[in-house]
Amino acid sequence: MADEFVAKALQKAHNVGDKIWCRIISNEGKFTEVNLTDAALSSALGGVTFPLCLGALQTVFFRPLRITSNLRLIGCVCGSFSLLISGSTASLAFLSSILLLRENNDSSVDVLTDKLHLRVPDRCPVAISVCYKDTPLYGFASLVVFKLLGGKFRSVLPSSLIHPGAFARGYIPAKGQNYASVAVRQKLTLLGKKYGCHSCGKRWRTSFVGDHMPPNKLVRKGQRQWFYPQCTSCSSLQGAAVSSMSRLLRVKTHGSSLRLYHLWLPLPIPLALLRNYVSDKSDMQDSDIGSDIED
Ligand SMILES: [Zn+2]
Repeated sequence: MADEFVAKALQKAHNVGDKIWCRIISNEGKFTEVNLTDAALSSALGGVTFPLCLGALQTVFFRPLRITSNLRLIGCVCGSFSLLISGSTASLAFLSSILLLRENNDSSVDVLTDKLHLRVPDRCPVAISVCYKDTPLYGFASLVVFKLLGGKFRSVLPSSLIHPGAFARGYIPAKGQNYASVAVRQKLTLLGKKYGCHSCGKRWRTSFVGDHMPPNKLVRKGQRQWFYPQCTSCSSLQGAAVSSMSRLLRVKTHGSSLRLYHLWLPLPIPLALLRNYVSDKSDMQDSDIGSDIED
């Protein structure tokens, strides 16, 4: 029974994959009219795909390779690479969704979109050119938006529990290896609520402790230390990781901690509008030149 269900699900997934691929081939370079409802639904899909993809890359790629946010140069390069891949994937999901919503004959989807069409009048449909070859360009544009919204390229990589993490923005100088005083803990709690745990980004439903950086067990003689706000969960993970010889335990992923810079914008639409504008402008210039020659 279970095997039959899995086989049916795989067959269905295969059919959907084939359908999407056929749409990609048949619509490449063609203009497709997009209405507001389809654009909103597809943008939501792209908006979910972007952080999901960033989180998946952390887990399946960067954590096993132990590439973490504290590595300055490699971190910047790998973070940019991750953003390019995730931005391109979200744009691909957006474009595929636009085409599928337009052409899908599935009645359940039709009923849903029909209901939404009744609520949201499509007053300004836009014709966009569907070019999957442009997805690297969309990925690059997503990277620019990420930076403009205040993101650091390295912050999309996992945190190292023995270094300042991906969310490390505020810190307080530590006087030696002693625990933080009450006054320092209060300041660290404020920093934690504002920026989150420096390792995992968690801001709510946790208390914060003062995390020595470098950790007390690893600090060299005479080296200065700072307190960073850290959640209790990461603090106990760090304790186990520092004692253990496993370097993998020292890597903490944080795919579910979202910030404003994880916002994905439906960039294929403004870029397509820009292309439409440039193409209309050059057509007008061509026709002007043609009429001048005729005169
Ligand atoms: Zn944490």
